[in-house]
Amino acid sequence: MSINSSEIAIIGSGPAGCYAAQALLKLLPDAQITVFDRLVTPYGLIRYGVAADHQHTKRITQQLDRVLQDPRVRFAGNISVPDDVTLEELQRCFNAVVIASGLEADRALFPDDVCSQALVIGANSLIRALNSHPLASSQVDPLGSHPVIVGGGNVALDLLRLCVKPSTAYSGSDINDDVYHDIHQVPVQRVTLLYRGTPETFKGDAQMIKELGAISEAHYSCDDITSGNLANEETAGNRTATALQQLFDPRRETTSNPVQVNFLFNAIPLGLAKSSEATDDITAEQISLQYSQRDETKTMTASSVISAIGFTAEGSAFESLITSPAESGRVTEQVFRTGWAKRGSSGGIPSNRACAIAVAKEVAEALSEQSTVPKPGFIGLNEQAQNKATSFAQWLQLNELELVNATAGRVRLKITDHSKQLSAVLNHEEEK
Ligand SMILES: Cc1cc2nc3c(=O)[nH]c(=O)nc-3n(C[C@H](O)[C@H](O)[C@H](O)COP(=O)(O)OP(=O)(O)OC[C@H]3O[C@@H](n4cnc5c(N)ncnc54)[C@H](O)[C@@H]3O)c2cc1C
Repeated sequence: MSINSSEIAIIGSGPAGCYAAQALLKLLPDAQITVFDRLVTPYGLIRYGVAADHQHTKRITQQLDRVLQDPRVRFAGNISVPDDVTLEELQRCFNAVVIASGLEADRALFPDDVCSQALVIGANSLIRALNSHPLASSQVDPLGSHPVIVGGGNVALDLLRLCVKPSTAYSGSDINDDVYHDIHQVPVQRVTLLYRGTPETFKGDAQMIKELGAISEAHYSCDDITSGNLANEETAGNRTATALQQLFDPRRETTSNPVQVNFLFNAIPLGLAKSSEATDDITAEQISLQYSQRDETKTMTASSVISAIGFTAEGSAFESLITSPAESGRVTEQVFRTGWAKRGSSGGIPSNRACAIAVAKEVAEALSEQSTVPKPGFIGLNEQAQNKATSFAQWLQLNELELVNATAGRVRLKITDHSKQLSAVLNHEEEK
């Protein structure tokens, strides 16, 4: 058997898993690839992380469709590793296994302070709910009138946009309207964004900052020291700092009574407590937030505190294999990793392509070093898993159903529940 006809398993059908399949097929044109996902739906965070009002980004799935529809690729949805097939079983049935499971746990803002941490809303839980992820919690806390966002990357900016953008501007999105209304039970009046670094080290893209600038219902400001530094220092060449400078320009036009957004740079949260006046009134600022800024300790009140400071492998089925980022994608002789499971939670969708190409090369090299034993691939797995797996064709049926059921002003109505997704595709089969 040549290495070309190897059986390769990929765990995860997000961008990293799909790009890995694409790169492997280029290097090993006769390989058979099975892309597993515990969900019935492919695409990972493109479907469940990318903001609902960024449909242009979600359209990348059209490229990934071509990979998953390649006759040499099998999409096996509804299969969780290790619940349905173990990593050991995959290694028995496949010549190589690539972990592309992403990272799903919110990095704790207060890892050593359980009481403070309990008051934090993790970005992941909020964004999953807004994107109708089947495993999202149905309980989402309202933002209230004064949410505080901690973080300085694109996810923090997505959340800021969510706070200030009027509901009417979600036309053409696939946002979960129930969750949107639950979190916006009272109008947001002001937002504070806490970032530990300076504007020059701010991680958010200039383009995302400009998008915020286009929302005339919000007025943006920053503390005086930062404002002075931004005005005095040369920001030419730093697109992010320049975009921030434009965002804070007092001449920027807004509607009357805009949401007041204040950026606090060099600010580090120290702890949270329920404010002494806490009541059931969700319009009240119930949380007292202590933070340090340039060696001074300060306190502010907030209605909610959302952290967007990255994701970790905590609780992942592969936690011990993917905890720290690594240069090489090789984990063991037969097991590899790519995407966020390799690099940590940094980089947008395109960065997973370069990463997957590099890892595919490592896989191909490893296979060429060994005398490749023929392996059965998917059909060698336990029968229960084989019967349970949903196909790409079934996903296409579900997709069609979601598009047909779209309500006014929405591009699709996502089916949120895993078992409802399953029965939708199975009923469709029976009807045919
Ligand atoms: C909120 C948010 C917004 C973002 N917005 C953008 C954006 O606008 N533009 C951009 O370029 N990038 C954006 N990104 C970054 C982008 O989403 C990531 O770079 C990319 O999704 C990482 O790809 P991945 O395949 O490694 O992981 P994921 O996309 O997370 O895919 C992992 C897949 O593995 C599956 N899986 C996990 N565990 C198992 C298991 N045990 N068994 C079987 N399957 C499993 C999951 O169901 C999932 O489908 C955003 C990220 C977040 C968090």
